[in-house]
Amino acid sequence: MHAVDVIDRKRRGEELTREEIEFMVMGFTRGEVEDYQMAAWLMAVVLQSMTERETVDLTMIMAESGDVLDLAGLGGMVVDKHSTGGVGDKTTLVVAPLVASLGLKVGKMSGRGLGFTGGTLDKLEAIPGFNVNLSRGQFIELIRNHGIVVAGQSADLAPADGAIYALRDVTATVASLPLIASSIMSKKIAAGANAIVLDVKTGSGAFMETEDAAVELAEAMIKIGRSVGRRMAATISDMGQPLGYAIGNALEVVEAVDTLKGNGPSDFTEHCEVVAAEMLLLADACPDAPAGRAMVQDMISSGRALSKFREWIRVQGGDDGVVDDPTIMPQAAVVDDLAAPKGGYVAAIDAREAGLATVGLGAGRQHKGERIDHAVGVVLRKKVGDCVRKGEALLAIHASDEEKLEEASQRLLSSFRWSDTPVQAPSVVLRVLR
Ligand code: URA
Repeated sequence: MHAVDVIDRKRRGEELTREEIEFMVMGFTRGEVEDYQMAAWLMAVVLQSMTERETVDLTMIMAESGDVLDLAGLGGMVVDKHSTGGVGDKTTLVVAPLVASLGLKVGKMSGRGLGFTGGTLDKLEAIPGFNVNLSRGQFIELIRNHGIVVAGQSADLAPADGAIYALRDVTATVASLPLIASSIMSKKIAAGANAIVLDVKTGSGAFMETEDAAVELAEAMIKIGRSVGRRMAATISDMGQPLGYAIGNALEVVEAVDTLKGNGPSDFTEHCEVVAAEMLLLADACPDAPAGRAMVQDMISSGRALSKFREWIRVQGGDDGVVDDPTIMPQAAVVDDLAAPKGGYVAAIDAREAGLATVGLGAGRQHKGERIDHAVGVVLRKKVGDCVRKGEALLAIHASDEEKLEEASQRLLSSFRWSDTPVQAPSVVLRVLR
């Protein structure tokens, strides 16, 4: 088989065999297919797309390119959730202990923030001592003994996806439905959970800017998961503005703790309840979604979800004192409010711009491996639909110095859109696909 023939067949829009896809993917991972050939093949996929069968084959080839965790020995269902990435999205910090407090086993491998989106591992590392670097044995032991674990992806999880993703990033070949779906699902399948709830974001702060595109991606991933025996569901949720109020690592941990105490922002609380209920439903732990939601609300009001959060933080080496005293997490040197330049109704807050402003403060990274500042970020005081008087605080900026604060202020101001007439607050969860 020759790479040039496989590239040419895809260029002409033909359906490739499993052997041809394997030849390209594994050949590239082993260094036998050249970068320029793989890049040409990826661009042909972007332009000609893939059939469902090809997409499943690509997913499984990448999933099986490294370790595939076998969690069957744990007995019962292990549930996972995956967000396609957002701004202010600290959902895992709340839903993992929530559903674990109801007896579900949660085993999740998470990523770091890149570009304008945040990453769960960075948020957890704002908690002093919290360890995300676990061996496979430790990962399984924590699920077995505590029913909850969130760790970094082991280097040997879907290594073919890692190699291909790095090439896609620099060859304008990220934006392809079969490539995104197979990339995400290869890692989820290799991480071993038997039930997966996908949270696919749509809007200005998401890969998929329209709801239809988000639904299409969610449906493709659901099909892939089901074809290999995983239970699948998806929420389509709004990223037309940041989720909740806090953006930035330590600030998001504080908001997650407040939510587990029953004092979270209403949009974020609703989002967590819906996702957690879908996880329960998928694992047959509740008869229907409304019953699941009532169960999670009960875990919050009884304090059991918060107790599970404390246990989780402790067993991963963290200081659970953050629950009572958030100031034990890194604190920014300068905190200042940004005043509204005019009165009116908030019509939109561009999540991508708000995310980039926060990255500029140092809360995220532009390049892989960059150091981040866990203390800095933004706490919104107004969201879409709110009526604001001129001079009122729109948000608070937590920065490491005055210069960064000034830069972020300009960018954040430009992320707000205004209306003179009342604006309806958007729904946070737009659809649920089961
Ligand atoms: N996240 C992934 O893991 N892969 C993609 O292709 C896009 C988002």
